[in-house]
Amino acid sequence: MATKKRLETVCVQGGYTPKNGEPRQIPIIQSTTFKYDTSEDMGKLFDLEASGYFYSRLQNPTNDCVAAKITQLEGGTAGMLTSSGQAANFYAIFNIATCGDHVVASAEIYGGTFNLFAVTMKKMGVEFTFVSPDASEEELDRAFRPNTKAMFGETIANPACAVLDIELFAKVAHKHGVPLIVDNTFATPVNCRPIEWGADIVTHSTTKYMDGHGSGIGGAIVDGGKFDWNKYADKFAGLTTPDDSYHGVIYTERFGLGGAFITKATAQLMRDFGSIQSPQNAYYVNLGLESLAVRMARHCENGLKVAEYLDKHEKVDWVRYCGLKNDKYYERGRKYLPNGSCGVLSFSLKGTRKEAETFMKNLKVAAIETHVADARTCCLHPANATHRQMTDEQLAAAGIPPTLIRYSCGLENADDLIDDIAQALEKV
Ligand SMILES: *Cc1c(COP(=O)(O)O)cnc(C)c1O
Repeated sequence: MATKKRLETVCVQGGYTPKNGEPRQIPIIQSTTFKYDTSEDMGKLFDLEASGYFYSRLQNPTNDCVAAKITQLEGGTAGMLTSSGQAANFYAIFNIATCGDHVVASAEIYGGTFNLFAVTMKKMGVEFTFVSPDASEEELDRAFRPNTKAMFGETIANPACAVLDIELFAKVAHKHGVPLIVDNTFATPVNCRPIEWGADIVTHSTTKYMDGHGSGIGGAIVDGGKFDWNKYADKFAGLTTPDDSYHGVIYTERFGLGGAFITKATAQLMRDFGSIQSPQNAYYVNLGLESLAVRMARHCENGLKVAEYLDKHEKVDWVRYCGLKNDKYYERGRKYLPNGSCGVLSFSLKGTRKEAETFMKNLKVAAIETHVADARTCCLHPANATHRQMTDEQLAAAGIPPTLIRYSCGLENADDLIDDIAQALEKV
């Protein structure tokens, strides 16, 4: 009898089972098109009557193996890869919320996602209300409107390191008849599976820990298959009424609750926008996934050791890492991330922007990069990089003091990271 495999095994073997004599490793199908014997065969694909490949702008077999692995890891029913994490979050929202609709999102999210929501999607007619990840149920309730179509948050916010109360967000979303979409990039399914806590759709920037080696930009969307679109058929008409561009197919009817969301996102959004991951990049993501469970444990171990060191240092004002007992999110972390959170932490030095600059300048092991969640330790001083155009006053209003540093622990020996930090702090 086939038994459900444990997470570590799925990381290595999920998504692809070669038959007798076939390649052991996932083949990279570097082909834009696929050949058919008859036009009728192809016609069935275009009518969504048969499943198969015809053009790599919509679907590719390499991508589908990797998406299947991520879907298995998250405990979902269907999944797809996208060209970036940005594309994943855009598709996940735009698949159900379009012009004239409204979405409730946590305010503590990745800057790129905030921009996508607050600026670009606003121009497309989708309005967002941002709420604190620490808002009470009543406060969350108040953010909803009759035209609200989804709720969004990040398991662990980048870079604020806030931990989302997934159960509460899911409860409120469901009370208002909308799905909860959770960006699980920083936790990865190794440390948290949001669908088990009530989330309906999970997104990823595979660029971060899943790839893990800084080699390819990519994203993923996984559907938990539990949200009942038919119960709110009027609200989600795109899924529950005929799609004229596919001879009147009704996604929920033809593909069920488990397949409707991803099929629609592939058939409409991927067809029309084409933000698909290259099969070569999907192959790299899969290599990363094979060691994900092993790597996450080390990222967390290093994260905690570095956070504990910084927390005790006299030149450090505060540290944000939910593994620290004195952290605001310690209890929530214990609930949702019992095996650890990730390798990313943020901290603030005592003093001014100048002290942070001196510290950064003297680091030798940690590299200055905009990247995070990589095998190599890297760090960023937002006041001098991503938020450079802002004054000290504006930074303070955005909750990013000029002394804040985001530090992403890689897979090196933690003592070397700590030695490096120690000598850089000595120069401050
Ligand atoms: C990096 C990141 C994104 C965007 O992903 P890209 O692959 O860079 O497009 C989205 N969400 C989170 C939490 C991220 O860290």
